[in-house]
Amino acid sequence: MELFYNHKCFVKEAFVKVGIFGYVNCIMKNEICQYISEYRLNKFVIKANVQDGWMLYNTTTGGVVFIQSEADLYESLNKLVELYYYVPLSFDEVKWVNKLREETNSASKVNYINGFTILTTTDCNAKCFYCYEKGLPRVTMTDKIAKDVADYIIKVSSDAPVHLRWFGGEPLLNHNAIDIISNNLNENGIKFQSTMISNGLLFTDSIIKKAKSLWKLKKIQITLDGTKVVYQNAKSFKEADGNEFQRVTDNISKLSDANIRVSIRLNQDFYNTTDLLELVDYLTSKFRKNKHISVYNNWLYGENGETTNLIEASKYEKFKQLQGKLIRCGLFHRYPLEKRIRLSHCMADNDASVLITPEGNIGKCEHLTNQHLIGSIYNTESDYREILRWKEQYQPTPKCFECPLYPQCVRIKMCPVESEICSWDQCENKIELIKMALVKKYESFRNKIETTENEV
Ligand code: SF4
Ligand code: SF4
Repeated sequence: MELFYNHKCFVKEAFVKVGIFGYVNCIMKNEICQYISEYRLNKFVIKANVQDGWMLYNTTTGGVVFIQSEADLYESLNKLVELYYYVPLSFDEVKWVNKLREETNSASKVNYINGFTILTTTDCNAKCFYCYEKGLPRVTMTDKIAKDVADYIIKVSSDAPVHLRWFGGEPLLNHNAIDIISNNLNENGIKFQSTMISNGLLFTDSIIKKAKSLWKLKKIQITLDGTKVVYQNAKSFKEADGNEFQRVTDNISKLSDANIRVSIRLNQDFYNTTDLLELVDYLTSKFRKNKHISVYNNWLYGENGETTNLIEASKYEKFKQLQGKLIRCGLFHRYPLEKRIRLSHCMADNDASVLITPEGNIGKCEHLTNQHLIGSIYNTESDYREILRWKEQYQPTPKCFECPLYPQCVRIKMCPVESEICSWDQCENKIELIKMALVKKYESFRNKIETTENEV
C-alpha cells in the first residue's frame, strides 16, 4: 500500500487537518483487524481502478492511498481501518462526518474577515443576454468610498493575509478604485493578493503591469462564449469595433506572460455547443502548453427552470462532449480533489468573507448585491438575522447518505443558483472527475518511481 499524504494530512501525528484552523483526531481507535469480512469500504471513499491496482480517495480526510492487490489490501487493513478507508460493517459514516463538521465548526470560529469580494462598479461594457445583473442600477464606487473600503479592510482583517476579489459589472471600468484600495493597503503594510472576474477586454500593457505589481493579481477568470462571431453576439459590447474577440484572446496571452493565471470559462448552452467545440481547437493551438491557462465549461442555467429528463440528458451529453474535448486537448485542469472536509458552501456562509458593493454596503453573495445585505463599511455592527439566513442549509436527501461527495457537499437555501436536488455537474460529473484525478495522481506516482529507478 502506498499512502499519498496530501500535505494537509498529518497522518503520522495521528491527526488529520480538516479545517484551516484545527486538527481533528481522525484516527479510528486501533482495532485488530483479523477478518476483512468484518469491514467494508467507507461509503465516502471513491475508488478508481488503475493499471496495477486501485486508488482510494477519502472525501472526508482528503487522503489518497494506492492498493496494489488483494494481498496488499489484507496486509494493510489495520492502517486502512485506522485512516477510515475501511470501516466496521455497522459504522455510521453520516454520523461521523456530521460530528467532525460540528467539532471543526466550533473550533474554527473567526474574529476577523480576510476575504473581500469588491464590486468596483455594477456598470459593464458588455450586455450579455444571460447577465443576472440585468435591470439593476449601475453604480460606480467613488474615490472616497474606495479609500473608506481600504480603511474598513485594515480594521476588520486583523493580521490575517487578505484576499481581494475584484468583481462587477466589469471591474476594469473603475480600475481607479482598485488602485486606491491597493495603494492604501500597501501603505499600511497589509499583506494581500487578489483575483478578478472580468471579460478581459479593457486590459492594456500598462494595466497588466499594474495588475501584477500594485494589485498583486494572481488569477483572473475570463468568459468566452464561442469563436469570433458567436462571442461578439453573446457579449454585445458597447461601441464594438468587431475586434473584441482578438483583443480578449491576446490579453489572455499577455496576462499569462505576466505569470497571472487565467481560467477561461466557456459558457455553454445548446445554441453554442458546436461552436465551442471549434473554439477549443483554436484555444488548443494557442494555449495548449501554457501552464498558466486552464479552460473549463459551465452550463448556462436560464431563468426558465422548466426542464424534462430528456432535456437534462441531452444537456449532460453535450456538456460531457465539450468537457471531454477540453480534457483530451490538455486544457482542462479543474480536478476537484479537495484536501479536507468542506465546512461552508461559499463566501455567503463563511464568516471570514464579505461582499462590498460600490456604495460601501456589505453583503454575502455576489449575485445578490442589493438584497439580503448585512451591514455597511461605516458600521461594524452586522445584521445577524441575515447572516444566519445565509447559513441555512438544505436537508440532505436519501441519495446524499449514499453519495461519496457528502463530506464535500454543503448546500445553502439562499443561494440563487442552488436547488434542493443537486444537478449532474455537482454530483455524477464531479465523481467522474475525481476518478480521473486519481488516475493522474497514480500516473505521476508511477513516473516518479520509474525516474528514480532509471537514475539508480
Ligand atoms: S446534494 Fe448531491 S452531491 Fe451533494 S451529497 Fe447529496 S447527492 Fe451528493
Ligand atoms: S451565487 Fe451562490 S455560490 Fe455564488 S456567492 Fe451567492 S450563494 Fe455563494
